[in-house]
Amino acid sequence: MAKSCIVCGKTHEEIPVTKFYYKESEFYICPQHIPMLIHKPTELAGMIPDAENFPAG
Ligand SMILES: [Zn+2]
Repeated sequence: MAKSCIVCGKTHEEIPVTKFYYKESEFYICPQHIPMLIHKPTELAGMIPDAENFPAG
């Protein structure tokens, strides 16, 4: 799996990306899209399994 932001697709070669885990999978997200993971996680549906059920922080 490429180290690229799940939202914008930028890779670790272009921008710092942080890794996170959900169940058995690993994902990467860039600083620009971390707020989305926190505040609007349901918008990540289709990018992360079950994201439509994530509670917003
Ligand atoms: Zn991004």
